Amino acid sequence: MSSSDRDMLIVDKQQCPVCAKDCATFTEFEIEDAFAGPIAIFTIRCNDCGFRNSDLEFLEPGQPAEYSVDIESKADLAIRVIKSGECEIKIPNFRISVDSTMNSEGFISNVEGVIRKFETQIFLLKEGEEDKAKRKTLKNLLKGIEQVLRGEKKITLKMIDKSGNSAIISDKVTVKKLRAKKK
Ligand SMILES: [Zn+2]
Repeated sequence: MSSSDRDMLIVDKQQCPVCAKDCATFTEFEIEDAFAGPIAIFTIRCNDCGFRNSDLEFLEPGQPAEYSVDIESKADLAIRVIKSGECEIKIPNFRISVDSTMNSEGFISNVEGVIRKFETQIFLLKEGEEDKAKRKTLKNLLKGIEQVLRGEKKITLKMIDKSGNSAIISDKVTVKKLRAKKK
């Protein structure tokens, strides 16, 4: 895929869902993914309050599924991840899952990118936490995440998407089909 053959749709002066000013720019473009086929990527950015979000959708409908993969080495951090705004991410080893802000964001990244997003969120939580014991728990969690990023700790990453617009792309992945989301 070259970036030059992307058809990009840009619509500006739209109402921002956060500050309600007509300062948001929507963009939509398609990419071709070797695994999932054509994918539409949507982004919104507010030029006033700075709000931004993104989402994506498979143009050839995917299967509602739970993807599960063991991250056992540094090489596994490069495993590709396609996540829609409907997808829930879980790391049972750490008893964590994404919060609603990250949950509504769609992106294409890799396992490292997903773990770094968790890391940032947990760091911010820790900084804002006044309870000493809770702060310590979060600190230990950050240490655990660092170990995963160094390839020294094994975890299982789960992605659950009933809309069928997400995937973990690896030979190692286990896919459990789910029932389609009720409309
Ligand atoms: Zn705004």
